[in-house]
Amino acid sequence: MRNNSVKVGVIGVGHLGQHHVKHYAGLHNADLVGIYDSDRERAESIANKTQSKVFNDLETLLDAVEAVSIVTPTRFHSDVAERCISEGKHVFIEKPITKTLEEADKLLLIAKEKGVLIQVGHIERLNPALLALKPYTLNPKFIEIQRLAPFTSRGTDVPVVLDLMIHDIDILLSLVDSPVKTIRATGLSILTDSVDIAHARIRFGNGTVASIMSSRVAKDKVRKVKIFQRDLYATIDLLLGLTEVYKVVNNPDDNPDALITAPFDYGGSERFIAYEKPATTSGDALKMELDNFIKSVQGKETPIVTGKAGRDALKVAMDIQRMIIQDIH
Ligand code: NAD
Repeated sequence: MRNNSVKVGVIGVGHLGQHHVKHYAGLHNADLVGIYDSDRERAESIANKTQSKVFNDLETLLDAVEAVSIVTPTRFHSDVAERCISEGKHVFIEKPITKTLEEADKLLLIAKEKGVLIQVGHIERLNPALLALKPYTLNPKFIEIQRLAPFTSRGTDVPVVLDLMIHDIDILLSLVDSPVKTIRATGLSILTDSVDIAHARIRFGNGTVASIMSSRVAKDKVRKVKIFQRDLYATIDLLLGLTEVYKVVNNPDDNPDALITAPFDYGGSERFIAYEKPATTSGDALKMELDNFIKSVQGKETPIVTGKAGRDALKVAMDIQRMIIQDIH
């Protein structure tokens, strides 16, 4: 055991949980105490690969840790998280925080009473392509986000809005500093009994409009964000990790690293368009997210995505889902 390191466990070691295990094992400030999965065979196989300890039940794991990652299917997040928080454990819950808003509100309340952290795994916030926008002053007027994914049965215990679109709702809420005013949404079922394709148009109090489309019926993966604002257009490919910015500049000499277009008339004066590819930092987003969680437990940082932010993204997702159901019927 390492001094001052946070004793942590992972609950649910399926497709994503195995990566939580791997990263905690490598974080110098975390002490991976063990893992628990309701599928014992699965737990054994991950434990063998990662030299971690399997716990036979949740209670015994909770007795031995200060913090946990909850990486079970979404429908179990609420029950599992409530048990962990009630035992005074800090929780990192994979997205979406829970399946219903009532469940999320209850978790936030108990966490406050118990004085523990809830962090939510909206990993795209740490996507290097999105982080590359930090040097720019953003005041988006229109945002378009598209997320397409080939069909897999994982995640289909919830509609596409809670599975895929919620990533982009969280991105959107982090980009626009204004409350949601109106939502229009439509969607349809293609392969499951649930909604597989969804489109939403969201208007914020400050006038910003967003169009977001998600589908889990696609040939190839697409994850693109486009931001339009006065004098600036940014296009971000979250999959390729590529960010490109086009902005109006007065003087090409002020932007020596940018490609500059020929001058154009801008309301009577001469302006230029500068094309920039801001540098992206490399690094594993999940590892950075878990490092932030551990440091937040230690009081050295604050969670990048708080339980409240996860709850707010869920609220918008539930509103969108409700509108889709109304629109279908
Ligand atoms: P999965 O089905 O591959 O794995 C889930 C694991 O949890 C399984 O091993 C299962 O046996 C175990 N499990 C089920 N109920 C349990 C319980 N009550 N206690 C302990 N273990 C239990 O699922 P997955 O694809 O790894 O997804 C898990 C979660 O992660 C979901 O909430 C999903 O939305 C989220 N997720 C997030 C991202 C992201 O980009 N942040 C990506 C994929 C999945």
